[in-house]
Amino acid sequence: MNNFLRFDLERGIGLSVVLIVAGYMRFHSACMAADSEVILNVDDYDRSCAIEIEQHDAQILVTWPLNDESRGRLTMDLAVDRPLIRSIAISRSLSTPFESIVDSLDPVVLLRVGKRDLEKRGGWTIFFDRMQRKPNEVFNARIGKTRAVASGKASRAVLTIGEVSAGSFHGEIRWTFYAGSPFVLQEAVMRTEKNGVAYLYDTGLVCRETVPKQMSWHDPLGDFKTERVDAIKTARRLAVRGRTICGEFERGCVALFPPPHRYFYPLDFSNNLRNIWIGPGYGKQALPFGFGIRHDPQGDNRYVPWFNAMPGTKQALGLFLYVSDSSAEQTLKDIAQLTRNDRFSPLKGHTVFASHFHVEHTREVLNAQEKEANTHSDVTARLSSGDEYRIPERLQNPGFVRVLRDMGVDIVHLAEFHFGATPRMKTIERLRHLDVLHAECKRLSDEGFLLLPGEEPNVHLGGHWISFFPKPVHWVLNRPSGTAFVTEDPKLGKVYHVGDEADVLRLLRAEQGLAWTAHPRIKGSTGFPDRYRDRPFFQSDRFLGAAWKAMPADLSQPRLGSRVLDLLDDMSNWGDPKYVLGEVDVFKIEPDHELYAHMNVNYLRLDRIPNFKDGWQPVLDALRGGQFFVTTGEVLIPEFTVNGRMSGEIAVLPKGDQSQVRLDLEWTFPLAYAEIISGNGRKIRRKRIDLSETKAFGQDSLRIDADLSGQRWARVEVWDIATNGAFTQPVWLESR
Ligand SMILES: [Zn+2]
Repeated sequence: MNNFLRFDLERGIGLSVVLIVAGYMRFHSACMAADSEVILNVDDYDRSCAIEIEQHDAQILVTWPLNDESRGRLTMDLAVDRPLIRSIAISRSLSTPFESIVDSLDPVVLLRVGKRDLEKRGGWTIFFDRMQRKPNEVFNARIGKTRAVASGKASRAVLTIGEVSAGSFHGEIRWTFYAGSPFVLQEAVMRTEKNGVAYLYDTGLVCRETVPKQMSWHDPLGDFKTERVDAIKTARRLAVRGRTICGEFERGCVALFPPPHRYFYPLDFSNNLRNIWIGPGYGKQALPFGFGIRHDPQGDNRYVPWFNAMPGTKQALGLFLYVSDSSAEQTLKDIAQLTRNDRFSPLKGHTVFASHFHVEHTREVLNAQEKEANTHSDVTARLSSGDEYRIPERLQNPGFVRVLRDMGVDIVHLAEFHFGATPRMKTIERLRHLDVLHAECKRLSDEGFLLLPGEEPNVHLGGHWISFFPKPVHWVLNRPSGTAFVTEDPKLGKVYHVGDEADVLRLLRAEQGLAWTAHPRIKGSTGFPDRYRDRPFFQSDRFLGAAWKAMPADLSQPRLGSRVLDLLDDMSNWGDPKYVLGEVDVFKIEPDHELYAHMNVNYLRLDRIPNFKDGWQPVLDALRGGQFFVTTGEVLIPEFTVNGRMSGEIAVLPKGDQSQVRLDLEWTFPLAYAEIISGNGRKIRRKRIDLSETKAFGQDSLRIDADLSGQRWARVEVWDIATNGAFTQPVWLESR
């Protein structure tokens, strides 16, 4: 059955239920108004499942274990004139009765719909859209109660209620319960048949009866804040740290937070855009007191692409509901564990490497030399050319260094000088820029943190690309006629003059550097690396591959950044070993930013951080050797082997036998699935491993038999229920 037909059928059934209910109500006037004729469909619900879902008249009770002792209960009310969530309750043990934390809540979903410009290059694969400048319309989703479906097996269960509609979008709302976890994933799952739709969503809960005593959150710098609800007279937007808002009631808390990375579509800036709302009348709607998550339609007011809604795709608008009988302070602490406190955990045998930051620190230091008078708080440092330079107090320990160090990033690779002037810059000015860049990287590095020079030079090759050298290298991005490729500077030594793509490759070879495609197949790299895959520089081992970032955003996908994951498969099939590292690609970073949502890192198989003064060849070797995995932070892959060989290595395929994939995992959110992806040079094969048995905060060592016969490479992706994930580089396969 095709999707359209199925939809019409579902809608037809939904409609007939409405008619039956309406007819029934006409005959049974007011006293029966709270009743419902909707029968819970349990066809796909396995009663042996750890989560009980049962219907009592118009109510559906979902009871699930929160941990080893206590249980949560969400009671839905299908009566037409009653709030959808009748109560959220907790029982502290199997023998204690349920005590309600809050009664009478309604989910609220506000959909902001605008028009995607599909005429622009890339169509749906777009970043350069300015949705904030075009007309948009906000729809308050109508949540009907014409059907209810339970499904579930083992340790997870789903309750779906429909029909939900908002403008041209329609679908249902579903709650996924995880045995042993105090959170529920509430998602409005909707689709539109209209073409060219981009959208945002704000969502949350409104309180029809009981309001919280107080609301609590962490401010952007991490301080705990509390405000009494009776003092909150109008709706407000809040900037919080950790993306969470907590409502504290007499007997416990209900906290709300978004999927930590997925909710944040790509932007150039990581500023905290006040993603929380609290108060009555939110969004100019006639709503009682409520709280939830929101998107700022303006974004950073540069390129603001929102989410794609390709026609017919099921967009899952997620929100986590976290139930707790602890204090708000403790509840916020517990929730922060799900993202490891917005930090990247140390992992034995690995260092944490992050790339592509346009912080423009060097230019700030250079500008200060010319434009700012000396003050007694300045410090001076020495350039490798021998000159001294001044560092004003505000740049001595800059925000981006404090933030990235605090996040647990060990090695940061910058993308400085993104302001467009470097390709035409004269040698003397260019060398001054590089000299300060190198000196500042050295000054800001120590035994526990390595800050590395890097650029997005974007010259000569086509599209955008990133450069990375194993030590300070002096190179000019142009070569006027008559200039030699290498000249000698009396103070700095070798200076390379790079005038075309052959020069770029010569330089990379001479200095053991690496280059890769920044944001492949999107933005300024639309069409790349595909368009230069036959060029000598691309085929050289100096060209690493490309970089991954969750872009564009599409909430119908079970993973982030498919654009680049598919490219990794394509490049692996093309032949030469290429790799994909994570890139962050943001501009200025300060401690009050929401950087974590936009972050990803690379865990390099490197057991110590190199010292700046010794050079950092081991970092480039780990990248070039494919000795790393990429993650949003929540999922770690301490070990991945195919027949005993790690990523970047060559494994031998046994004749006719199954290959053995070993996958060690550590995670915070329960996992959704892992996928072994392999290719034979032409086609891609996928083997999906269902991980719905996993609980939150686990680790496991999986041994998977996989038929890899005839394949040339294999790699692994792992995604959790909040669409956080990790992926490895390929293991290369040989048949002997
Ligand atoms: Zn770029």
